[in-house]
Amino acid sequence: MKGLSTPALIRREPVVLVVSGPSGSGKDSLVSALRRLEPDLAYSTSVTTRAPRPGELDGVHYHFVTHERFRQLTAEDAFIETREYAGNLYGTPKKFVDDSLRSSIDVVMKPEVHGAMAMKRAYRRAALVFVTAPTPDVLAQRLMERSTESGDAIARRLEIAQDEMQWIGSFDYLIVNETFEFALQQLHTILMAERLRTTRVHEM
Ligand code: 5GP
Repeated sequence: MKGLSTPALIRREPVVLVVSGPSGSGKDSLVSALRRLEPDLAYSTSVTTRAPRPGELDGVHYHFVTHERFRQLTAEDAFIETREYAGNLYGTPKKFVDDSLRSSIDVVMKPEVHGAMAMKRAYRRAALVFVTAPTPDVLAQRLMERSTESGDAIARRLEIAQDEMQWIGSFDYLIVNETFEFALQQLHTILMAERLRTTRVHEM
């Protein structure tokens, strides 16, 4: 067709996919399943002072560190953002995310909501997804079924969840995780659509 041209080669900026939402919303399982669907997606493993839960592995689920080490890393400017959550510290390591982006690899992470806001400030084209359970009762039920936390810790997490829900309007996307398979399909669709944004694509 005369007058129309498509670039021979296109290059696109990698996606920073930030999946957030209350504890018990199911974001962990969704991100794990997304990573199985998209093996090339880099996962930013956070650093935390929280003790590992049974079955959690250092370097896989988190980098588990002491408070002293966390403070040292903070002083070295090793984090994009840090947050205290239910008495423990969590942080997103800067080097891993920046190395992935420099290598044009899409990266996913799952901080709590304040961490998500900080990611948007650091990477303005980051795609922010809020995952929530269909009702507060379902959220509480999921937290109790998980039984990784004591009664007190569950109550604290539910309290934090109430605050987190106030932030939905600051996110780009909302997934109500009623059916796991559908929620996963929605998360995958968001990633695929983000990859196709014209603002992310450059002619070579
Ligand atoms: P959990 O103790 O259940 O693994 O995590 C507690 C909360 O901290 C969750 O909402 C989780 O998403 C969040 N979180 C995990 N890593 C980070 C991080 O690097 N930064 C921030 N801001 N939150 C994190």
